[in-house]
Amino acid sequence: MSSLIDKIIRPEIRALSAYHVPSARGLIKLDAMENPYTLPPFLREEISRIVVGAEVNRYPDPHAVDLKQTLRTTLSIPAGMDILLGNGSDEIIQIIALATARPGAKLLTVEPGFAMFRMIAAFADMEYFSIPLLSDFSLDADHMLDAIARHQPAVIFLAYPNNPSGNLFDTEALCQIIEASPALVVIDEAYHPFADKTFLDKLPDYPNLLVMRTLSKLGLAGLRLGLLTGNPEWLVHFEKIRLPYNIGIITQLVATKAMQHFAVLQQQAYEIKQNRTVLMSKLAALDGVEVFPSDANFILFRVNHASEIFQALVQQGILIKNLDNTHFLLKNCLRVTIGTMDENTQFLKTISNLINQD
Ligand SMILES: *Cc1c(COP(=O)(O)O)cnc(C)c1O
Repeated sequence: MSSLIDKIIRPEIRALSAYHVPSARGLIKLDAMENPYTLPPFLREEISRIVVGAEVNRYPDPHAVDLKQTLRTTLSIPAGMDILLGNGSDEIIQIIALATARPGAKLLTVEPGFAMFRMIAAFADMEYFSIPLLSDFSLDADHMLDAIARHQPAVIFLAYPNNPSGNLFDTEALCQIIEASPALVVIDEAYHPFADKTFLDKLPDYPNLLVMRTLSKLGLAGLRLGLLTGNPEWLVHFEKIRLPYNIGIITQLVATKAMQHFAVLQQQAYEIKQNRTVLMSKLAALDGVEVFPSDANFILFRVNHASEIFQALVQQGILIKNLDNTHFLLKNCLRVTIGTMDENTQFLKTISNLINQD
């Protein structure tokens, strides 16, 4: 059996370990960059009425016309740019990889960065290259430009703000990379609701630029909806790879309704940003904790004995993300998602006790 499996399953897939999602049962969940707030009762009621009336016996609209129209206006998609929808932006990354993966094609990104870029490069049989960030997690622009010239990648993925570091890369450096690059450059703006900057308005200037967004971090992670926007001449090809009914009817209906009340989600994002400021300063005030700046809904920090602190937090009912030793720049690093004020207070109290016991 195992020799049959070895013969049939591609070696690069056998070599992967599945994306691990730890169980958060019974824990305060500050590990996955979710919005901690639920939708307000009036909106939940409207949504329940819509869901009751949904024709689930029919296939969903394959072009999700209403949803796209709502997204176009709420997200201010520039005129002339198209939208491609994915089952989360993860699916969009996969569509782009499948479309660009000619034999020997390369995918370039930075590390530490978003783990799915590497995984999906393997799925699509692309060669994966990553350039290390500098020790403050800023972009090593010279090194990137050099790698672009040497490797001639087909596609470059950069998260802006970056995950797991939380910072925005220098705009000038990114523009330089887009300009210097013969590749398609995808700016992944998953954390845009918590940052004040975007490359959306630069789409008309750069024919090789695409911008990706998601509703996951905004408060709708359970719906699974991501979008790619850019020149229709690119998107028309990605559309062919997108499976016809990838966005289910419930997601289409609920996301459309929620985005018609975009102000509700924006207000929640605003509160998360306020809570981030508070958590950031209190965390930085703890003995021996180094906090990195964040324009996202999470904070990366360094603390002695990080892996032990992480385990002790779990034992005391709090789940964050342990990044210790996942990259040479992440020694003793942990990542906490901004929760409600109560959750953040609980986290701070617990971690400060643990640090003082040390
Ligand atoms: C969370 C995250 C995404 C994935 O979002 P989904 O739309 O939920 O698939 C994409 N990119 C980055 C950098 C992320 O951190």
